[in-house]
Amino acid sequence: MKVTEYIKNSKGKAQVSFEILPPLKGGSIQMIFDMLDPLMEFKPPFIDVTYHREEYIYKKRPSGYYEKTSIRKRPGTVGICTAIMNKYGVDAVPHLICGGFTKEETENALIDLNFLGINNVLALRGDARKFESKFVPQDGGHNYAIDLVEHIDNMNKGLYLDSNIVNGLKTDFCIGVAGYPEKHFEAPNPKIDLKFLKDKIDAGADYIVTQMFWDNKKYLKFVKSCREIGITVPIIPGLKPITNMRQLTSIPRIFHVNFPEDLVDELSKCTSDKAARQVGIEWTIQQSKELKEAGAPVLHYYTMGDVKTFVEIAKAVF
Ligand code: FAD
Repeated sequence: MKVTEYIKNSKGKAQVSFEILPPLKGGSIQMIFDMLDPLMEFKPPFIDVTYHREEYIYKKRPSGYYEKTSIRKRPGTVGICTAIMNKYGVDAVPHLICGGFTKEETENALIDLNFLGINNVLALRGDARKFESKFVPQDGGHNYAIDLVEHIDNMNKGLYLDSNIVNGLKTDFCIGVAGYPEKHFEAPNPKIDLKFLKDKIDAGADYIVTQMFWDNKKYLKFVKSCREIGITVPIIPGLKPITNMRQLTSIPRIFHVNFPEDLVDELSKCTSDKAARQVGIEWTIQQSKELKEAGAPVLHYYTMGDVKTFVEIAKAVF
């Protein structure tokens, strides 16, 4: 079923979903099942699986020279989605990114997804590769998430890159896109960022999942601003608890987000990661309860492989 159908059918009752990462190359599907087994108790209608772009690494050759090699550390998104759907009977939402794909490869990946019975995708641009100062699209690939949305929407209309295809199969993808309550870090201001978000919806996206945030007021203001410019699709809040002291600086650096003063004050009093984790969990539980109350359609948790924490949170909220 489509993400938007789950939301419609729940009649205003907030549902839960989890985002997981594929294991590092060399890992097994059992690692995914071990992670998901305890979360299934909360009956998530769908699970998101992230996609990771290739990275360049420098390998030292016997000659002493360094060789630039491209590797993908976390492959397997599509396989994991299929395995999840087969094992648990819940839907899986693969993330698709522009970076690293030509349009042709993107189209072929979407055909694979369609044949596998996967009809939800989260369409993203992706970030710059490590050691690159800005996002560089693949030669012959998409520049922005909106280009990917348009591509998928065309396939939903039976239009393929090869315009000679007539009466092509109309895929039926439900398309999610990313939104940023605190603005995407590259956008010059929130208004322009929102305009680009609206463009993605107008191009055919069906729902929005937000970047993680810790201040519900920011999410609620974001939803209000979206509604004011005519975005009517569901806006799913993305949540992640702080679980150690290092994240106070690493998360803002990596994800370009801010922590509210009250949360930072509480964390500053902690003398151990264990205490910080407790503060983080309690904060996310409180956030989740308020968002449920405020009518959020789904609470989407970024697990980043830390299942225990999310079992604690989901037990308190659902
Ligand atoms: P876009 O919507 O293309 O926006 C990127 C920037 O370009 C924004 O600043 C926007 O304002 C601007 N912009 C948009 N259109 C235009 C235009 N026409 N002209 C000029 N500027 C424009 N990354 C991964 O690699 N893998 C994942 O699995 C993944 N999952 C994610 C899940 C969620 C819910 C979120 C919020 C993010 C995820 N990301 C993931 C990170 C995401 O790829 C980055 O945040 C990326 O920098 C932007 O992606 P986007 O889809 O929002 O890009």
